[in-house]
Amino acid sequence: MAAKAEKLTAVKGMNDILPPDSARWEWLEAQVRALMARYAYSNIRTPIVEPTPLFIRGLGEVTDIVEKEMYSFEDRLNGEHLTLRPECTAGVVRAVVEHSMLYDGGKRLYYMGPMFRHERPQRGRYRQFHQVGAEALGFAGAEIDAELILLADALWKTLGLSDVRLELNSLGQPEERKQHRAALIAYFEQHVDQLDEEARRRLHLNPLRILDTKNPAMQALVEAAPKLLDFLGEASLAHFNQVRAMLDANGVAYSINPRLVRGMDYYNLTVFEFITTRLGSQGTICGGGRYDYLIEQIGGKPAPAVGWALGVERVLELLKEQGTANPAPALDAYAIIPDVTALPAAMACLQALRAMGVHVQMHAGTGEGMGSMKSQFKRADASGACYALIFGADELAQNQVTVKALRDGSGAQSTYSLANVADWASHLQSRS
Ligand code: ATP
Ligand code: MG
Repeated sequence: MAAKAEKLTAVKGMNDILPPDSARWEWLEAQVRALMARYAYSNIRTPIVEPTPLFIRGLGEVTDIVEKEMYSFEDRLNGEHLTLRPECTAGVVRAVVEHSMLYDGGKRLYYMGPMFRHERPQRGRYRQFHQVGAEALGFAGAEIDAELILLADALWKTLGLSDVRLELNSLGQPEERKQHRAALIAYFEQHVDQLDEEARRRLHLNPLRILDTKNPAMQALVEAAPKLLDFLGEASLAHFNQVRAMLDANGVAYSINPRLVRGMDYYNLTVFEFITTRLGSQGTICGGGRYDYLIEQIGGKPAPAVGWALGVERVLELLKEQGTANPAPALDAYAIIPDVTALPAAMACLQALRAMGVHVQMHAGTGEGMGSMKSQFKRADASGACYALIFGADELAQNQVTVKALRDGSGAQSTYSLANVADWASHLQSRS
């Protein structure tokens, strides 16, 4: 006899999404699709695997993602350097450039799907996680920054999320960042003894990244560091103030966080995060901003752009935390089939019901037979269906089916003709 095969498990930090939980995912995805359509954002689907240089060039070499979080490997067959996408903005930009999508004006796009980062798994932080993202490419005006923020805000309302606050900042333009960078290096050099090892290494490579540190011991130091906002010129300030005015006019509250720098190098001008205090230290549910230089950096004709991405796991976790009810079970009817000889007629009826939009589950036998009525009713109960359809021999002899109510306490039964399913199918639909 062969030895018992060893059990295989999912990769650490990567989760199976199982029913009934997967229904919550489908519900969220449906809400996203409907909302994106109302804002005229079109769906884009890019590959999970991209050439590694895309992320090195796009996100910046001295970033958490590129330094330590990427799943990179060499293609065994041709030696190409590939990476499982840690985020999707770079891939979207690559696709937009590759297919000259901006030739006839700006594009509004959205995506959803899995991303991969080699982080320490914990609540709200996984190695495979999922993002929904929205990107508007080819638009320079502050109204698009505002539109994207309003879109995210509308999504929280649609999903029923509360306890989400918006933080806003401006990273200005490269010239302004350069001056701030010099001030930042001078400041941190004065306090080098308070920097952790990573910050010391980044001090001359990418001091802005130090502001994004998650080390609690450095928070006070970072708090008092020179603020980018104080280095902004007139044009940058005007853009920032326009975004603020549009948010004010639409009743979207925010606070300005001068230390908000985001984790990637590609941002300029507006940056923002939506944060909740209810998920502990993994409280950022959505982040984004303007990235006017990324398209050029990835080899396209210079064009402005702005976008955001949200973490689906964190949003669903927040909904759970709030006690928001799961979507209702969607099964209308469970088909009880006492004998295999009833299967042909029963299945024809079920097909007709499904074609009318009824959600119906067929009882499945053991291979020997269909099982006792008692066990079939037990299954019907457990399925959550509102009705049982009973395809008994007596009923079938009269070309009929008995319908029994399972949930309203009445146990009421009626019989319907199999000849005109369309006339009664709607009686089974509990969902309005
Ligand atoms: P954090 O500061 O929490 O590491 P981040 O700045 O790295 O987040 P982004 O790259 O801006 O995150 O990604 C956008 C959103 O994706 C985050 O706000 C978060 O909701 C989600 N996210 C990022 N990394 C993970 C992860 N490892 N697991 C689950 N969700 C994640
Ligand atoms: Mg991170």
